[in-house]
Amino acid sequence: MSGHKLLFSGLKLWTSGSSKWIDRLHHGVNRTGKAPFSSCNPKVCIVGGGPAGFYTAQALIKARQDVEVDIYERLPVPFGLVRFGVAPDHPEVKNVINTFTQTAKHSRCSFYGNVNVGEDVSVEELQRAYHAVVLSYGAEGNRRMGVPGEDLAGVYSAKDFVGWYNGLPSCRELGPDLSCETAVILGQGNVALDVARILLSPLDILKKTDITQPALEALAESKVRRVLVVGRRGPTQIACTIKEIREMVNLPDTRPEMVAAEFEGITEALKDLPRPRKRLTELMLKTALGIPDEKEQERRTKASRIWGFRFFRSPVEILADPDHKKTSGIRLAVNRLEGSGETARAVLTGEVEDVTCGLVISSIGYKSLPIDPSVPFDSSKAIVPNSMGRVQQAAGLYCSGWLKTGPTGVIATTMNNSFDTGRSVVEDMDSGTLDVSAGKPGSQSISALLDKRGVKPVLFSDWEKIDAVEVRRGEAIEKPREKLLTVEEMLLEARK
Ligand code: FAD
Ligand code: NAP
Repeated sequence: MSGHKLLFSGLKLWTSGSSKWIDRLHHGVNRTGKAPFSSCNPKVCIVGGGPAGFYTAQALIKARQDVEVDIYERLPVPFGLVRFGVAPDHPEVKNVINTFTQTAKHSRCSFYGNVNVGEDVSVEELQRAYHAVVLSYGAEGNRRMGVPGEDLAGVYSAKDFVGWYNGLPSCRELGPDLSCETAVILGQGNVALDVARILLSPLDILKKTDITQPALEALAESKVRRVLVVGRRGPTQIACTIKEIREMVNLPDTRPEMVAAEFEGITEALKDLPRPRKRLTELMLKTALGIPDEKEQERRTKASRIWGFRFFRSPVEILADPDHKKTSGIRLAVNRLEGSGETARAVLTGEVEDVTCGLVISSIGYKSLPIDPSVPFDSSKAIVPNSMGRVQQAAGLYCSGWLKTGPTGVIATTMNNSFDTGRSVVEDMDSGTLDVSAGKPGSQSISALLDKRGVKPVLFSDWEKIDAVEVRRGEAIEKPREKLLTVEEMLLEARK
């Protein structure tokens, strides 16, 4: 039996009091294969194994030589949105996984996947077992448009669509209907552009990525030829970044389709824009109004697919086909702007316009959800109320990542806010605000609880087995990996 196998089956051996597991304890190795530390060491538990969880763990381990950190993750696989959000054609972004892996393998860090906090174990139980609990479970819900027809067939949230092409088990059955010619994406952030790019990318590009095979097959059959990315405000308020617009501009076999009138006055406004926004706006202006050179003109003429921005438009209603079975279009309110710059507000003009389309993807932002009634939650902002990561009126409870800030910011932003939370925890330990003088049982008591409840955690070494299988399956079809698509399959590989 391999070391891994022994470790995983150790769960049962341990609770049934088997001499084999007790032997392992006596030989100075705990269930994660790491030497146990002093029971007096400060023990911190992190909920969520995405970037926030790993960066918070990294900060804690680095700041104090005695802190032990356990990360509890709902899925059997780590890395959160780095695995299930970041676009498959952006593999370089996923290199952060190497840093997270180093953290997970640190002698004072342990990973427990397949543990759904709030269901398998409560936050109060974690608080009893650890000196501090850091909530880093991200933003797994999505903002709703709140318009009639939102639940019609053919309308999807970007969260689900992204989860589908990235192999998130809960989105496996989504089966988006790609049989129409025009798709409308609402929202103009980077997620919207990820979705537009995936819908329009030539298959030759996608098939070399870790996009799931079912998504690749569905996209191969897709009839979508035109994608409109709709925003409620104007070109100088667009939420995406220049790199993502440039990728659209350069996407093979596509041409832009903009409305020149929507750029009225923008050239004059350029001089007052901050530099990054200015460069981005210049690129849009050039794409919308510039006269393409001969080569670009030829490229555009040959292109079979179209993408475009539409500005000053808010969703009013998703229109149904005559059978009321699926969407046939969207009614948009025409807006004007009140104020200027980043804070300009969209105000309805009273005018509406209908766009015919068979696919609507709402990409107006993710949203954190409460997971445990004992944890304070600000429903209006959809965050855990906190100051510098310290959860308000809840000693020993902290938060980091999107749960702390709301669902904005790239991985580097999440890293910084997670380091800040780590710093707050350490400051509280150092100052005595967080009492770490009495020993706490940490994972020992939680493991016993989970075992009683029939929950078998997936350790980081078990994830490495899943990882190896995925990479092997990918190699066979010249992809970096072919993801396992169900929790059952993941657990099966983890337990081999
Ligand atoms: P998450 O990454 O969501 O991690 C939260 C983790 O908590 C998940 O693993 C989840 O399974 C787990 N969890 C949830 N509930 C529970 C529970 N009850 N118990 C235990 N665990 C739980 N940034 C970039 O820099 N570059 C990009 O290209 C990029 N692309 C993106 C694409 C998309 C579609 C999205 C949505 C975001 C993208 N980002 C990108 C932003 C980046 O993903 C976020 O900044 C970052 O993932 C936020 O980290 P987090 O840990 O707070 O949340
Ligand atoms: P986002 O950047 O906040 O964009 C949300 C979009 O939805 C905005 O255009 C916003 O318009 C619009 N919106 C919000 N509420 C609306 C409503 N009620 N009606 C109509 N439109 C509405 O969010 P995101 O695209 O989900 O991205 C989340 C974060 O992940 C961002 O920080 C993003 O940069 C990051 N990310 C990065 C990458 C990358 O680096 N490649 C890729 C994906 C995601 P207003 O501006 O008018 O509010």
